[in-house]
Amino acid sequence: MTDLTSLSAADLAALLTSREVSSVEATRAHLDRIDAVDPDIHAFLHVAAEGALASASRVDERRAAGESLGELAGVPIAIKDVLTTNDMPSTAGSRILEGWVPPYDATVVRRLREADLIPLGKTNMDEFAMGSSTEHSAYGPTHNPWDLDRIPGGSGGGSAAAVAAFEAPLALGSDTGGSIRQPAAVTGSVGVKPTYGAVSRYGAIALASSLDQVGPVSRTVLDAALLHDVIAGHDPLDSTSLDETWPSMAQAARAGRTGDALKGVRVGIVRQLAGEGFQAGVKQRFDEAVALLTAAGAEVIEVSAPSFEYAVAAYYLILPAEASSNLARFDSVRFGMRVMPADGPVTSERVMSATRDAGFGPEVKRRIILGTYALSAGYYDAYYGSAQKVRTLIQRDFNDAFGKVDVLISPSAPTTAFRLGEKLNDPMAMYLNDITTIPANLAGIPGMGLPIGLAPEDGLPVGMQIMAPARSDARLYTIGAALERLLEETWGHTLISRAPDLTATEMFASEEGAI
Ligand code: GLN
Repeated sequence: MTDLTSLSAADLAALLTSREVSSVEATRAHLDRIDAVDPDIHAFLHVAAEGALASASRVDERRAAGESLGELAGVPIAIKDVLTTNDMPSTAGSRILEGWVPPYDATVVRRLREADLIPLGKTNMDEFAMGSSTEHSAYGPTHNPWDLDRIPGGSGGGSAAAVAAFEAPLALGSDTGGSIRQPAAVTGSVGVKPTYGAVSRYGAIALASSLDQVGPVSRTVLDAALLHDVIAGHDPLDSTSLDETWPSMAQAARAGRTGDALKGVRVGIVRQLAGEGFQAGVKQRFDEAVALLTAAGAEVIEVSAPSFEYAVAAYYLILPAEASSNLARFDSVRFGMRVMPADGPVTSERVMSATRDAGFGPEVKRRIILGTYALSAGYYDAYYGSAQKVRTLIQRDFNDAFGKVDVLISPSAPTTAFRLGEKLNDPMAMYLNDITTIPANLAGIPGMGLPIGLAPEDGLPVGMQIMAPARSDARLYTIGAALERLLEETWGHTLISRAPDLTATEMFASEEGAI
């Protein structure tokens, strides 16, 4: 029998529906896989083996009783630890929330449960989602399944690594400046940041509220679409949630895999998201994918977005400003840890200060200081105000570009996975890594990252990002799925992700990097 962990969520779901496989079997296979590889990878902060098996057996019973269940019912999923879960600790990768079990589920988690997916556990992340490598997690980094000495991306490196290492077919991530798309890029996974407001942020521990968005992580475009359909939709508990009916993303993805989905599609390559600082092999695989799109009848042109040059600078003012305000709630009274001052009087301010000193890591402190400075009365206009103006200019650049093309594309990240430790002591280098993903968050538009091959120089995965106008998420799935099919025809096999113990590598053979 096929190894259940090697299947896509859609294929596993089909076996569950036809009752060839039970959810308990599927869940147990993934838990065994976690036992076998997670000591090396460290994708999970918490594994809920008992809870997962209990949920799986309930789904099996209901299926046996003839109940009609959702398409992904019984399929296991990993959940980024930024999302609150009422039966598992939710730490957001921070010491300050160690052991905190929230009294409620995030709306997206509630929707997973209602759709009968099986939560396997919580995944590692940079503390409060600040970072691009998981090295800022208070609980130690996650390792990239392609090379354990490399970063799995961040902040959602745990979710991406779990999916890439076949510990889960699906995962949830959150993306404020790229934390779904960049980890997907460097692990050979698919990741989507939906339109701002498409997916509820209720119960997503806030980093920067005007940028945060929850989204799917998977190994295929269709799987991401199926998960997107489960989590998206209006939520009265989130005041920025869009009140509208969305088309089926799964249907959009299926349409992309059949027929001539790319014929006549106008694709824009963003001039500012290429060139200097982009690794040669990333560029090469990107150009090859563009050639495939052209051969399939897409009309590819270059477009210019001049304000993107200032996107990273604007983001690293807006994000710390919002984060410094959001993180004020960790005050030693309402959540998590409380540390008493070592000596001197015990006042609430001194307890708060001792707690935040012990509970927050260096990157979080850096951003709180940056953010409070940028918001301070004398500097507000010069920093925060200017950054907001740049944000408007970036939105205008996108509007102009989408006047000419249907989607925009770029590499998902400038380089393949860098080495653990390589950028840890150089925050600027770490921040610059976000150049490709940040503009979409500043504009609130949707973006998808999907694997387009391995860089010849290091054999590591390369991703392409596709961006569409706000509310046009379905377009990403159609075009992403069409490109995925073209790549599969070229490679002669399907999934790109592989596991470190090489048990599944025949499927993912990567002779000379030409996956
Ligand atoms: N790397 C970005 C940052 O450090 C992305 C964060 C995110 O999307 N959560 O801010």
